[in-house]
Amino acid sequence: MNILVINCGSSSLKYQLINMTNEEVLAQGIVERIGIDGSILTQKVEGRDKYIIETPMESHKIAVKLVLDALVDNKNGVINSMDEIAAVGHRIVHGGERYAKSVLVDDEVVKYIEECIKLAPLHNPAHIIGINACKELMPNTKMAVVFDTAFHQTMPEHAYLYALPYELYKEHNIRKYGFHGTSHKYVSAKVAEVMGKDIKDLKIVTCHLGNGASITAVKDGISVETSMGFTPLEGVAMGTRSGNIDPAIVTYLMKEANYSLDEVNEILNKKSGVLGISGVSSDFRDIEAAASNGNHRAQLALDIFHYRVKQHVASYAASMGGVDVVVFTAGVGENSPETREEVCKGLEFMGINIDPAKNKVRGKLTEISSDSSKVKIYIVPTNEELMIAKDTLALISK
Ligand code: ADP
Repeated sequence: MNILVINCGSSSLKYQLINMTNEEVLAQGIVERIGIDGSILTQKVEGRDKYIIETPMESHKIAVKLVLDALVDNKNGVINSMDEIAAVGHRIVHGGERYAKSVLVDDEVVKYIEECIKLAPLHNPAHIIGINACKELMPNTKMAVVFDTAFHQTMPEHAYLYALPYELYKEHNIRKYGFHGTSHKYVSAKVAEVMGKDIKDLKIVTCHLGNGASITAVKDGISVETSMGFTPLEGVAMGTRSGNIDPAIVTYLMKEANYSLDEVNEILNKKSGVLGISGVSSDFRDIEAAASNGNHRAQLALDIFHYRVKQHVASYAASMGGVDVVVFTAGVGENSPETREEVCKGLEFMGINIDPAKNKVRGKLTEISSDSSKVKIYIVPTNEELMIAKDTLALISK
């Protein structure tokens, strides 16, 4: 049984067709520059050359149509007809407070995703366009939505509320929602599985360190605390995002330094983080290279990033009353031995001891703690698409 996973962005669409019998990815691809000049679809199938279609795509509907065509294409496709797609799973960034789990798509669900546009103005509109395009092109195929925020809906009130006037929560939905939930859920379940333990018996800190980064405390199998907040800007320093700062800096910049609201927004989201500090790049590979060539600001950016992640790991042990496992995942977490080593350094007092030799590995599910380490440390490659496909399959099988 094949599930099509779709992640629709404002001008892009990523997809994977997964055979759920053996969890094999039959095809994966990306459509870029939807609605702009130079639209392009690139499809990858294991063992074959890339299949590229360059043709104007004015809308997401046209993009979805081309994806379906590419999948059933005589020469480059992987299935004979659209009937071989059992269901579609859509990644949705924001599910507000209503959805703590994935759900099948109906009108009411779409309406609520629409209501959440104010909370995720860049993402949710594109998701809705993607859902509607699929609905038109494959009206008889079931669809599910899987929310980035859902896994974190289990956080207790004292964790998700900001110490702001309570009315702001009630009137404007101001609270911590958390993101990357699908990834945190996947890697925490996976690590419990490889350790041969019931996830309910584990206290896990999951570090999703990519361009965007978030840390989550998973206790008894549920998220009890996470570093991203009302928006994905909160938490650790990231590629281009500031993470936590004194909120008064915002009003100071606007009042004393004449920055406009849009400029401050741009600074915090696009010009800060390791890019802002280093002045080199938002890509950790570039920054690590510059730092090893003696660039002080590049080293400083890395130091700040490592320090903030370390602080979160330690404080989440406090949130859970201990920690049994630390998991590293996503682009940086899976591929940077330096990041993992620097994050763990200094946490030996908590029983966290990394094995430098085991840590010399990239992108592979591996235990990297020393034999004497009280806390286990793992690299677990994330797989949000598979998680979305699994949730979708479970929903259509009900
Ligand atoms: P996102 O999905 O948030 O865009 P990813 O999880 O794909 O991010 O991670 C992208 C980041 O991973 C980039 O900053 C990239 O530099 C980093 N990365 C990838 N490979 C390596 C590596 N070998 N060493 C260090 N960082 C890496």
